[in-house]
Amino acid sequence: MAMRSDVEKVAGLDGDLVGLTREQLDGLASRLDGPLLRAGDPGWAEAVLVWNGMVARSPALVVQPASARDVAAVVEFVAAHRLRLGVKGGGHNIGGTAIAAQGVTLDMSRMRDVTVHRDARLAHVGPGCRLADVDRATQAHGLATVLGFVSEVGVAGLTLGGGFGYLTRRFGWAVDNLEEVEIVTADGRIRTASRTENAELFWALRGGGGNFGVVTRFTFRLHEVGPTVYGGLVAWPFERAAEVLQAYKTLTLGAPRELAVWLILLRAPAAPFVPPEWHGQRICAMSVCYTGDLAGVDDVLAPLRALGAPVVNLLREQPYVEVQSYLDATEPKGLHYYWRTEYIAALSDELLSTCQELFARFPNPAAELGILHLGGALNERDEADGAVGNRNVRYACGVLGMWEPHEPDASAFRRSVDEAWRRLRSFGTGGNYVNFQLAEDGPGRTAEAYGKNYERLRRAKAAFDPGNLFRVNRNIPPAS
Ligand SMILES: Cc1cc2nc3c(=O)[nH]c(=O)nc-3n(C[C@H](O)[C@H](O)[C@H](O)COP(=O)(O)OP(=O)(O)OC[C@H]3O[C@@H](n4cnc5c(N)ncnc54)[C@H](O)[C@@H]3O)c2cc1C
Repeated sequence: MAMRSDVEKVAGLDGDLVGLTREQLDGLASRLDGPLLRAGDPGWAEAVLVWNGMVARSPALVVQPASARDVAAVVEFVAAHRLRLGVKGGGHNIGGTAIAAQGVTLDMSRMRDVTVHRDARLAHVGPGCRLADVDRATQAHGLATVLGFVSEVGVAGLTLGGGFGYLTRRFGWAVDNLEEVEIVTADGRIRTASRTENAELFWALRGGGGNFGVVTRFTFRLHEVGPTVYGGLVAWPFERAAEVLQAYKTLTLGAPRELAVWLILLRAPAAPFVPPEWHGQRICAMSVCYTGDLAGVDDVLAPLRALGAPVVNLLREQPYVEVQSYLDATEPKGLHYYWRTEYIAALSDELLSTCQELFARFPNPAAELGILHLGGALNERDEADGAVGNRNVRYACGVLGMWEPHEPDASAFRRSVDEAWRRLRSFGTGGNYVNFQLAEDGPGRTAEAYGKNYERLRRAKAAFDPGNLFRVNRNIPPAS
């Protein structure tokens, strides 16, 4: 660690600045196997980088723990000095919650191991893993768990907020497949939580985000998937939106759970797989993942085949790990992102025509409007089965704006996303996905995300983090 002054000013829990002496920081560093970094140290820029370029905050200190013991030492230290702590998994939270402004950030990137127990169908996953780390390791055995569809997203943040992906229709929320965690709680203890041990803590972790401690290991249940599946992108001109959207509705209403199709209205990228005359043109795209018997794929996709003549068609048999990464390039790190999303219980014609109308007049050329099909296994569990709730959700719908950092029309773009959201909200379930919340969203939106589970979460928070040490997140205040 490069020391530059004798006293380091670090943000305290209540926003005050706390002075830490060189001796205090050396004392912490001497307890760690991983490094303690300050601005300018090698590795600093990568350690504080987050996906959304709109996040302008930076911490005063970063620790890159090598073990649960390191994490416990940091939690004890920040608790003793009442410092603000952020935890970075993959850094993809749109609100930038990984970064504690002028505080301490635990960057978990050195804890990135995955161990697959093939016979037990379990994977032990380090908290710094990206989705691709887990998919690659489990697919080597023809197994997978429920994770999202952009491979650089962090497993930790995604899972702790609930988590969904193409396999959700078959196996539920990501947390429905979580078997156990190892976690450092606010008292600095390393605990195990599962359905049988620290069961209430485990319940809260299944959706309650980073409110209950720092998870140092996840254990996921695995399922037989692939390794070859059928999938890819297929797209039609936006001029045909009305019939494409109807076909999407027909397809998803009749789809077996092995089929997940996500609809994206966007302008075609200038990619080699898009004919040049379609570059920049509005299209209706579908992102397809079919993990069932490959012999049946033609029947399953009949409503799409009936549309005929796509302008892009990348549908084919391919490895599941490719399906899990082919959208990576569409939302690169560092652009400014602003989105609004809702959970939806049913795909009505009115919602579809609203989507079509909204997309036709977005001023932001890179804006996208998406509908994700999620209904299936998640609907079969009780609302109180894990804090995640939202057991009535069958689709998610969202509007995404993105632009370069110095875009002059940024405020108009944001306004158009907000206006679209006001229209879409009327189709929502009243719940929402906590992992999609913006920095601007107030505490009411977090309460809505948990619905009936919210008060129980607040009681769990009071039991495990009564002083609200873990508050740099979508915060759940302890019950008083
Ligand atoms: C391009 C893109 C695609 C996405 N696709 C999907 C998708 O398909 N499915 C889906 O469900 N979500 C998806 N998301 C949303 C995603 O779940 C959230 O952005 C999530 O917060 C990302 O987790 P992370 O670890 O990368 O984030 P980070 O910003 O690193 O962390 C977010 C928060 O998680 C908590 N956290 C992280 N690590 C730990 C830990 N070890 N212990 C305790 N708390 C921790 C902290 O509170 C932290 O503030 C997507 C997001 C993006 C940007």
